[in-house]
Amino acid sequence: MALNDMHAEAVAGVVDRVVARYHRDPTCMVQILREVQEVCDWISPEAIDRMQVTLGVPRTKIEGVAGFYSFFYTEPRGKYRVLFSDNITDRMLGSKAMMDRLCNSLWVERGKVSEDGLVSVAQTACTGMCDQGPALLINNYAIAGLTAERIDEIAELIRGKVPLAEWPPAYFKTEDNIRRADILLNADFKPGEALLAARARAPSDGLNSSNMRSWREGLPSGIGGPGATLDEIKRANLRGRGGAGFTTGLKWEACRNAPLKAGAQRIVVCNADEGEPGTFKDRVLLSRNPDLVFEGMTVAAYAVGATRGFVYLRGEYRYMLDHLNAVLAHRRREKLLGKDILGLPGADFDIEIHVGAGAYVCGEESALIESLEGKRGTPRNRPPFPVTNGYLDQPTIVNNVETFAAAALIALNGGDWYAAIGTKHSAGTKLLSVSGDCERPGIYEYPFGVSVRQVLEDCGARDTQAVQVSGPSGICIAEQEFDRIIGFEDIPTAGAFTVFNNTRDMFEVARNYVHFFQHESCGFCTPCRVGTSLLKNLMDKLHNGVGSPYDFAEIEKLNQLLQSMSHCGLGHTACNPVLDTIERFRPAYERRMAQKDFTPAFDLDRALSSARQMTGRDDAGAHLATEHGGQS
Ligand code: SF4
Repeated sequence: MALNDMHAEAVAGVVDRVVARYHRDPTCMVQILREVQEVCDWISPEAIDRMQVTLGVPRTKIEGVAGFYSFFYTEPRGKYRVLFSDNITDRMLGSKAMMDRLCNSLWVERGKVSEDGLVSVAQTACTGMCDQGPALLINNYAIAGLTAERIDEIAELIRGKVPLAEWPPAYFKTEDNIRRADILLNADFKPGEALLAARARAPSDGLNSSNMRSWREGLPSGIGGPGATLDEIKRANLRGRGGAGFTTGLKWEACRNAPLKAGAQRIVVCNADEGEPGTFKDRVLLSRNPDLVFEGMTVAAYAVGATRGFVYLRGEYRYMLDHLNAVLAHRRREKLLGKDILGLPGADFDIEIHVGAGAYVCGEESALIESLEGKRGTPRNRPPFPVTNGYLDQPTIVNNVETFAAAALIALNGGDWYAAIGTKHSAGTKLLSVSGDCERPGIYEYPFGVSVRQVLEDCGARDTQAVQVSGPSGICIAEQEFDRIIGFEDIPTAGAFTVFNNTRDMFEVARNYVHFFQHESCGFCTPCRVGTSLLKNLMDKLHNGVGSPYDFAEIEKLNQLLQSMSHCGLGHTACNPVLDTIERFRPAYERRMAQKDFTPAFDLDRALSSARQMTGRDDAGAHLATEHGGQS
């Protein structure tokens, strides 16, 4: 029996236990699938059969959800499931050689399962460890800073079938690498003090609490007002840190003012699904100061009258789950979460953590909400927007981890204090995840307005030819633009700052990003599903040396198609890395255009080479004839 074959009764027992813990609630489908897989190693037909019965959900729907997420396996995988991070920075640090070494050592083919079912080795998108790559996930636990020696040790442990819990804890240690701290990372913050400050703040004229009866409807009179907290957030000019930069105060106010149907409640969601390759600042904020983030969520709940909260934690950060749950439990004991927060009757709000399962598109807020509801993470049509019709059709705010951390400090210190930091259009500070060709990769917190050149100097970058700001969906800038500034008025960013020195081939950087988008397209709309595949094929064609100017024109056409016809931001931005690098690093493309005329991507003669090898023939008759009568 292979290691990951469990008897049907045992699988049913696991499913029953997990489903019971989630109160047979189909909206918890993603969490149920994740937990079942954690025990059974994969989601077998027997597991799906049992879920169908216990959850009362059609089999096709369960299969549809399981099939959507990269981290769910409906085919047997190894007992040890190794996924190498395949961000461009991992490649620059030698991830491919590491993966080959492990595969050779374990006699397993990349992308396959070993014959005894012990191990499978494959690649995954960026795991958020770009400052300490190369990195891998093993059964969703991160190991960073890989070396050849560490790979050999890992192979030995796998061969010896040593349970993961008995592996040296040092393997799983990740570094915060905070290189520059400002108000967020230096915050001398005591849990509860932002809530106390919000409570003590005088009610505002607009949304005062004097006639409100509960947290949900506003706190009783004489204890400050949610309107005053909202005013501070607005005065701070806080804008969302997930990249789009929507004004936080307006979002919260719209949720607050949204009509509430009978039995419904308002919801606060923290988007910790930072899947943009090159971004890892939310990982550091959550590991360094989770209380600040949870307190910001509670401040938001107070301001909008929400009673339920979620953290959507990306699957790659599964290793943080136990610690974050322990922090939440502590906050409940301290009356900072749960019922009657701060001892105030009716002040109820609690947070649960939902772990994602490897889908970049779930970073989009409506896709994230779909996933929270236990479905495939497909972006919704908008309007209606989540602030009125979000989680289970209830008013919902979705904000980034960094936004909530900033909100806690604003509640504590006031909006004017915050607005005085940064620039006129970009208040506060920004965390940058710096990686790539520099001496000191890690997290840098700057007031908005810092120049790209300053960041490069601080992180010890030399001979830099390009910086990719805000990941593949952001912008690639060249040396002559390094005096541009980080801020909504110039270069907005979710946080990634990836440095490339002049030894790097910017065509290959763009090709890596295009492969990423093609892999992450959710397939819902045809322009993106087909367009990202065609774009990938064109880039691969150039890589293979059979590109022509015709292919440039095709890329431009694809860009127009993706930008105008795609359903969500993934499709809109999928061509960005290519267009940016064509504009700034055109020679990297021209070097690959050996042909002047159109040449098909598929080379039939080359495809027949293995047949020639097998038959031992390489004469003219074994090759395709060209139109000139020679061999092609
Ligand atoms: Fe999915 Fe792409 Fe369409 Fe977005 S644009 S919905 S990711 S297929």
